[in-house]
Amino acid sequence: MARLSMHDRLPYDEATTPPRVSTGDLPDPADVQRVVTEAFHLYQANADGVVADYIPALAAASPDLFGISVVGARGRSFEIGDVDTPFSIQSVSKPFVFALVCEAEGYDSARQHLGVNSTGFPFNSLMAVELNDARTMNPLVNAGAIATTSLVPGTTAEEKFEHVRDGLSRFAGRELSMSEDVYASEAGSNMRNHGIAHLLNSYGRLYFDPDAATDVYTRQCSLEVTVHDLAAMGATLANGGVNPESGDRVIAASVCRRVLAVMATAGLYELSGDWLYEIGVPGKSGVSGGIVTVAPGKGGLATFSPPLDPAGNSVRGQLVTKYLAERIGLNLFASEARPTLS
Ligand code: GLN
Repeated sequence: MARLSMHDRLPYDEATTPPRVSTGDLPDPADVQRVVTEAFHLYQANADGVVADYIPALAAASPDLFGISVVGARGRSFEIGDVDTPFSIQSVSKPFVFALVCEAEGYDSARQHLGVNSTGFPFNSLMAVELNDARTMNPLVNAGAIATTSLVPGTTAEEKFEHVRDGLSRFAGRELSMSEDVYASEAGSNMRNHGIAHLLNSYGRLYFDPDAATDVYTRQCSLEVTVHDLAAMGATLANGGVNPESGDRVIAASVCRRVLAVMATAGLYELSGDWLYEIGVPGKSGVSGGIVTVAPGKGGLATFSPPLDPAGNSVRGQLVTKYLAERIGLNLFASEARPTLS
C-alpha cells in the first residue's frame, strides 16, 4: 500500500465540500466597544519599549501614538485612539503577500517553496538559513518573506510590486500607496536583506533576481496603512478570504486557513510560542508598531503603538491584544466544561 502522509490532499475536493468550522461570534457590539475603550485607557500610560531606529525614517515616530481597531467578520468596526494615522506596514505585510502567492500557485506548492515551521530565531536571522537544510523555514521572517515576494506573479519587479500593492489594497478595502520616505530610508540601509536574498539564491531557494526581489520586498514593507486598514485586512482572513466591508473575495477560504496556521506558528518571530501560549490567536507584528490578530469567524483586531520589545513586537499592542483576547473571547484554545450527562 502506498504510504500516506499528512501532506496528502484529503480524499475529496475542499472547494466543493467545504470543511465545517469550529468558531462562534463576537459579543454584543456595545460590549466590544466598551472593552476596546477599557483596553485603551488601561495601557495608554505604559511607557515600556523602544521605537525602532535601524530604519532611520521609523525613528521619527512618536512613542505616544496609540490606536486600536476591531473589524468584525460582518463588517462592524470598534475603534479608539490614533485610528487615522498612516504608518508603514512593514512585516505585517508578510502573511498577506504569502496569501497572494498561495492563491496564485496553490498552498501545497507554496509550502514546498517556503516552509511553514518556525525558526526560533530573530526576524532577520542568517543563522536560521544556514542551520536549516530547507533554508527558508516560513514566509513570516525576512528570509522566507523575501523568497515569498520573489514568487509573486509578474515577470518584472514593477509587475510584482503592482500585484502586491493591488492585493494588499483588496485586503484593506481601499487603494494603498507607498511611503516614499520610508522606502528611500530602508532602501539605503538594508544591505542585510540583500545579503539574505543572495544567500538564499546561492542555495537555489530564491525565485527571482536577489536585488530586485529585495527591492520589491522593501516597497511592500513601505506601503502605508492605518490601524483600521490592518483590522480590515485581518477581518478578511477571519472571514474566509472575503473583505467584510467591501464584499470582495480576495483569497479562497482554503488558503485563508493555511495563512492563519503560519501566523500562529511564526507571526511573532522567536516569541511566537509565548504569544500563542498567552493569547491563543494567530497574529503578526511589524517594526513600525502594528500588530494584526485574527480570530477566525469573528474578526480582525489591530493595534498601533511604535515602542517595541527586544524581539521587535509592539509592547502596548501585546498588552491590548492579550486583554481583548480574554475579554471578548478570541482565544482559539479556550473551552469550558459542560454539565455532565446524568
Ligand atoms: N522592512 C523590515 C525589514 O526587513 C521589516 C521587519 C519587521 O517589520 N520586523 O527589516
